[in-house]
Amino acid sequence: MNIVLFGPPGVGKGTQGIRLANKLGIIHLAMGDLLRAAVAEETELGLQAKAFMDAGKLVTDGLVIGLIEERITSPEAKAGFLLDGFPRNVAQASALKEMLAKHAMDIDRVIFMDASKQVLLERLTGRLICSACGFSFHRHYSPPKIEGQCDQCGGSLYQRADDTEEVISQRLEVYAEQTAPLLDFYSQDKAFRRVNAESGMDEVYLALLEVVKG
Ligand code: AMP
Repeated sequence: MNIVLFGPPGVGKGTQGIRLANKLGIIHLAMGDLLRAAVAEETELGLQAKAFMDAGKLVTDGLVIGLIEERITSPEAKAGFLLDGFPRNVAQASALKEMLAKHAMDIDRVIFMDASKQVLLERLTGRLICSACGFSFHRHYSPPKIEGQCDQCGGSLYQRADDTEEVISQRLEVYAEQTAPLLDFYSQDKAFRRVNAESGMDEVYLALLEVVKG
């Protein structure tokens, strides 16, 4: 099964995407994670991407499109994939469509997750992420049992460099201008589904499972 998960920053694409992909036995491909890994490894691509990411802007399409094709056609993606954070604008969505057609592949579900700006801001400003496994916590709503330490794997928790109020507001603007138009691009597609992501983690997960099934 092939799934695209999209929605504003902080809506829970990462948290839910990992869980959903595990349940379905497919790989979770988070473009933000791939880019952060490239930045940490100081690859050519990472060096080019860093300035855009620090400023809360989108990395150029040419850089991200190549990363995706390589992965969705790899043996690990044989049972399927869940894309989280890609596509993020209409040009990327068109490129994905062409790329899938070229490999005789298709998207079974395009799921739009939504929440109000207030909820997104609360989630992003309190977010803590495990440096080892990528699991997300929230300072107030879902704190780790031991401060600074991941409940899942014991890794250390950090706040993302772009989860500051200034960069968050830039990311939300970029979302409204460039990513929100994907709603028009996909809304007539038979694979399109919408999920309200304002409620608790388990409730949203169940809602996602429902739309995956039907
Ligand atoms: P995320 O972890 O999904 O919030 O992404 C973090 C940052 O990585 C974004 O603010 C962008 O700078 C960059 N990024 C992630 N996905 C994409 C994409 N599909 N296209 C361009 N830039 C991206």
